[in-house]
Amino acid sequence: DAAAETTSGVGHRKPAYLNPKLPIDHRVSDLLGRMTLPEKVGQMAQAERAAVDADPTLVAQWALGALLSGGGSAPTPNTPEAWVSMINNFQRQALSTRLGIPIIYGVDAVHGHSAVYGATVFPHNIGLGATRDPELVRRIGRATGEEVKATGVPWNFAPCLCVARDERWGRTYESFSEDPALVAEMGTYIDGLRDAGVLATIKHFAGDGDTEYDQAAADANESLPSGSQKFTIDQGVTVASRAEFARINLAPYWTALRRHDVDSVMPSFSSVDWTEDGVGNPLKMHAHKELLTDVLKGAQRFKGFVISDWEGLHQIPDPNEPTVAGLTAYKVRTAVNAGIDVAMVPNNAKLFIDLLLAEVEAGRVGRTRIDDAVRRILRAKFELGLFERPYASADDVDSVGSREHRALARQAVAQSQVLLKNDNRALPLRKDAKVYVAGRNADDIGNQAGGWTITWQGVSGDPIPGTTILEGIREVAPRAQVTYSADGSAPTAGSDVAVVVVGETPYSEGFGDVGGPECPWCTTQQQEEKSLSLQPGDRAVVDKVCGEIDTCVVLVVSGRPQVLTDQLGQMDALVASWLPGSEGAGVADVLFGRRPFTGRLSMSWPRSEAQVPINVGDRNYRPLFPYGFGLRTR
Ligand code: BGC
Repeated sequence: DAAAETTSGVGHRKPAYLNPKLPIDHRVSDLLGRMTLPEKVGQMAQAERAAVDADPTLVAQWALGALLSGGGSAPTPNTPEAWVSMINNFQRQALSTRLGIPIIYGVDAVHGHSAVYGATVFPHNIGLGATRDPELVRRIGRATGEEVKATGVPWNFAPCLCVARDERWGRTYESFSEDPALVAEMGTYIDGLRDAGVLATIKHFAGDGDTEYDQAAADANESLPSGSQKFTIDQGVTVASRAEFARINLAPYWTALRRHDVDSVMPSFSSVDWTEDGVGNPLKMHAHKELLTDVLKGAQRFKGFVISDWEGLHQIPDPNEPTVAGLTAYKVRTAVNAGIDVAMVPNNAKLFIDLLLAEVEAGRVGRTRIDDAVRRILRAKFELGLFERPYASADDVDSVGSREHRALARQAVAQSQVLLKNDNRALPLRKDAKVYVAGRNADDIGNQAGGWTITWQGVSGDPIPGTTILEGIREVAPRAQVTYSADGSAPTAGSDVAVVVVGETPYSEGFGDVGGPECPWCTTQQQEEKSLSLQPGDRAVVDKVCGEIDTCVVLVVSGRPQVLTDQLGQMDALVASWLPGSEGAGVADVLFGRRPFTGRLSMSWPRSEAQVPINVGDRNYRPLFPYGFGLRTR
C-alpha cells in the first residue's frame, strides 16, 4: 500500500508498519503483506532462553517471534541489570532480520517477579483471594508489572484464573479461590499489569483446577508408558457437562474478557470430557477447536492470541505415535487448527517451525489460519510499543524490590491472614510478651515463599532477601522477649505464649497428585508430603510446645488447607498464613495487633482427608471451617 507509506526527511520511503501515527490494524496489514511464510511461522514459535543462549543468532536465523524464561530460568548473575542486557541482546538479533520485527519476552511472575533475585515476592494467589480486595490485587498487578518491565520483560504468564476445586492439586495456591465468582473479581490484576505496560495471560483455559482424582487409575498409572492418558489431578481430565464446565471453569474467563484488556490466553494441559457425550472421550484443551476457536475467539470475540503451555502441543495424543511424547506433524496441525497462535516450544522451536511449514505447504493448515495467528501476535507487539521502543533500559531497575512495593506486599500479607480460632482472645499478642517461637516455617523465607520462587519448584532456606515471620516478630515487637527453637527442644520456661509455625515446603505443579513417574522432580520429602495432613515433625512440635505453654498460637504456612482436626483442641489460636512471600513482617503486624485480622477463607477447610474434594455448595457440606470463614480482631 504505497500511498500509506510515509516519506522521511531525506526522501526515502519508510514502510507503513513503522509509522506509529497509523492505526495499528493498518500497520499489521502492511507488515503481514510483506512477510514470507517462514517469517510468519517464526512469529508463532516461542523458545526458552536457555535454548538460544549459547547462540543468540538463532533468534534471527529462525525468525523467532517470542522467547521465555521458564520457571526460574535466569541469566547469571541473576540481577535486574543482567536481565535487561540478556533481553536486549536477543532483541538486537530480532531487529537484525529483514523486517526487524521485535521479539516478545515472557516470564511467570505469578507472585511478584519472583524469578529475579531481590524482587518483591507477594503472597501467592490463594492468600490474595482471602483478602477479598480486588483494588489491592490491582495494585499488586501494577507493582509486579513495574518490576517485570524494569527487567526488560513486557509479558507475564499471569494471572491464573484457575478455580481450584480439589486441594490435592499441586497448583491450588495459584488459584484465588474455589469460588468462580471470587476468582473473577480478582481479574483486576490484569488492569494492574496493563497499567505498568505489561501484557497479561489468563491461564490455564480451562478446567485445570477441576480435574478428576481417580486413585485406581493413578495407581495403575505407574505401569503406563509415558505420554499415555493420565487420570490424575494435575494435567488431568475435567469430567463435566457443558453447563457445569461453563459455570465453574469458564465463567472467570468470560468475566475477564468483558471487564479487562486481555491480551493472551494459555490453554490448560488438562482435558475435558463432556458427560452428555458419554464419558471416556477426553479431549486435550490444546486440541479443543470448539472452545478455543468457536467459543473463545468466535462467540466471546477474543481478539488477543492463544499461547500454548510448555510443550503443550507435545501432549496432544497422536494416533500414529501412541507412546512417545515428542512433537509430530499431527500434533502441530491439530493445535494450530484448533486455534493456538503461538506455540511454547521451549527446546523445539526449529522442529515446530519446520513441521508447521510443511503442513501449510501440504495444505493441511490453511494460510488464512496462519495469517490470523500472526495478526494477533503482531497486534500485541504494536500495542506494547515494541516497534518504537524495542530495547529496555537499566535505568528503572530501582523499582525491583523497592520499599514501596515491599510495603504493599506487607500490607497484602496482613490482609491475607485468616484467623480460624481465637479462644480467650489469645490474639493479638501483647508487645511485651515472652514469646516462644517454634516450628520449621517460622524462620524459613523459602518455605514462606513457596513454589515459583527463584527456581520453578522453589526451595527451603534462604533463596531471596526479605523478612521471615520470626524476624518480623522481632521487628514489630522489639520489647517482646523472643525465644526461638525450630523443633521446640529449647526450654519453654517462663514463656507466656507460643507461636508455632508449621505447614508445607515448596513445590509446584504435579506434586499434590500421585508421585512416581507423575512427579519425577519431587524430592522424597515432597513425595511424603502429598497428604494434606500435618507432617509428623510438625505434629510433634505442636504437641510438645502447646503441651508446655499456656497460650498456644499455631500458624500454618502452606499452599492449601492442612488437615489438623485432631490437634485443634491444643491450639488457642489458629491462623492460615498461606504462602506470604518475602514480607513476613505482615504476619507479625496482625499477630501484635498493628493491623486487624480481616482475611476470610478463599477455600473450604476440610475436616479430614476423606472429605477432599470439598467445595462450598456441596451436598453434605461439613468442613472444619467453611468457605468465607474468618474471625476479626480490632
Ligand atoms: C506451566 C505454566 C507456565 C509455563 C512457562 C508450565 O509448566 O504450566 O503455567 O506459564 O510452564 O513457565
